[in-house]
Amino acid sequence: MTDEKNAVFRKIFKGRQSRTGAGLTVGIRMRHPLIVGNWKMHNTVSESVSLVNRLKGLLSDGNCREIAVCPPFTALESVKHALPKRILLGAQNMHYETSGAFTGEISAGMLKDMGCTFVILGHSERRQIFGESVSLVGKKVSAALDANLTPILCVGETDEERSSDKTFKVIEEQLRGGLSGVEGTQAAGIVVAYEPVWAIGTGRTASPDDAQESHVFIRNILADLFGADTAKNVRILYGGSVKPENAKELMSQKDIDGALVGGAALKAESFAAIANY
Ligand code: PEP
Repeated sequence: MTDEKNAVFRKIFKGRQSRTGAGLTVGIRMRHPLIVGNWKMHNTVSESVSLVNRLKGLLSDGNCREIAVCPPFTALESVKHALPKRILLGAQNMHYETSGAFTGEISAGMLKDMGCTFVILGHSERRQIFGESVSLVGKKVSAALDANLTPILCVGETDEERSSDKTFKVIEEQLRGGLSGVEGTQAAGIVVAYEPVWAIGTGRTASPDDAQESHVFIRNILADLFGADTAKNVRILYGGSVKPENAKELMSQKDIDGALVGGAALKAESFAAIANY
C-alpha cells in the first residue's frame, strides 16, 4: 500500500473496532472486511476504466471495508490512475522469480512497482487449467511476501472431492503447501480465500454454515502453523458465486472476513452492492 493510501485507511479506521474486537493496529493487518473483485480475462483497457468510473459513484462512504479490484495485467496501469483512494489494486497471478528469461511472465516486484497491493495466487483456474501445483503456488506466495505484496491464497475442493469427503484434506494440503515457505513474522500479512471449486461461476454457493465450518478449519490450521494470535488476525475470504443477494448472510458468519468475487465483480452495480452489503 502506498503511504498515501495507508494514511487514508488509517483515517477511515481510526477509533473503530475490528470484528475481532481487537481494535486497530495497522489498517491493512486487521480483520476489516475485504471485498476483492477478480475480473479474470475480461475487459479491455477502456472497459476497465469505465467499470471503475461507474463503481466510484456507487460505493458507500463511511464503512470500514477494504475494497480491491484485480484487472488483467494489461489494464493495471490505467485502472491504477482511475481508482479512487479507497479502492486498492491487485493482480491475478505472477511468477515466483524476481527476473530472468521467463518469457510471458511477470514478477512480484513488477506488480509492486505498478502499484498493486494484492495478488491472487493458487486460484482454482490456475491449478486446474494451467496445472499449477501446490509447491509452485507455495513459491509464489513466498515471492509475493518478499516483495511486500499481499498474497490472496485460494484453496478449495472440487465437487468430486466434496462428495468423497475429502474437503478438509484438500484444504489442508493446499494451505500447508501454499504457506510452507512463509515465516511466522510474515504470516499476518497474508489473506486466504476459501473458494469451493464447485461454487465458482456456477451460481451454487456454499451455505453460510458450511462456509463458516471451512473457515474455522482454515483458521485452526493457521493457528497450528503460526500461533493463535496470528491466526486471529488473518483474513479469510469466501469466494464462489457471491452475489448481492447472499453477501450479507455470508459476511455475517464470524470467520468470514470478506469475499473474492468473480462474475458479480464485472458489473459496477452488483460489485458495489456486495461491497456495501
Ligand atoms: C472466482 O473466480 O474467484 C469466483 C469466486 O468467481 P464467481 O464469483 O463468479 O463464482
